[in-house]
Amino acid sequence: MMKSRYVKRPKAKVHLFTNVIVCADCGTSLWYLQNRKGYVCGRYRKHGKRACTSHSIKEEKLKALVMDDLRHLTQMSVSKENVLEQVEKTVQKTKKENEKKLLQKEREVDKLKNENRKFLKLLAEEVITPDEYRDITNHNHEKIKELGIEIVKLRSENNNEALDNKQLQKFFNIAESVLKFEELTEELLHRLVEKIEVKEQGEIVIHYNFMSPLSLVV
Ligand SMILES: [Zn+2]
Repeated sequence: MMKSRYVKRPKAKVHLFTNVIVCADCGTSLWYLQNRKGYVCGRYRKHGKRACTSHSIKEEKLKALVMDDLRHLTQMSVSKENVLEQVEKTVQKTKKENEKKLLQKEREVDKLKNENRKFLKLLAEEVITPDEYRDITNHNHEKIKELGIEIVKLRSENNNEALDNKQLQKFFNIAESVLKFEELTEELLHRLVEKIEVKEQGEIVIHYNFMSPLSLVV
């Protein structure tokens, strides 16, 4: 085996939540403080009270909070069918509503097109002048264009599943692994959590890097 040519420098100890937790108010990373067994806002630590407040939180508390939230988020997956059923229901309901709206808008477009045809006839019969014809039909054309955009949007919404099977499967895999872990490990944290914001009173907001089907159902 090749030996490393570099002499290892003593490295600052990296803690579990380093690079994951940030101050909700100033956006700076929180720093681990050995004597507090927890983290404080880096900006506060460096520049004092005028720059930010401490936003301190103990590592043990943070671990428990994240694990609780993960368990809560994934417990429903124990009954996988139940989740799938509810997601399917929500998706179907939205689809139905969209189809109703689509029909309405398509009818409106037909109505406007018919109107334009009538005006064309009136123009041919010289009941209205070309200027009048242009005025009236321009307005209708604009409306038809607007409706067309809305129709395209509704159609694409209905073709897009909010959560496809791949995402669902990913979620269930995550849920299974969460259930296996007794406590929050580095592996679990870095696999699932993108960022944690710590508010002044120690409340946290967890940003996961996966999508939960529960977010659709609730
Ligand atoms: Zn701060």
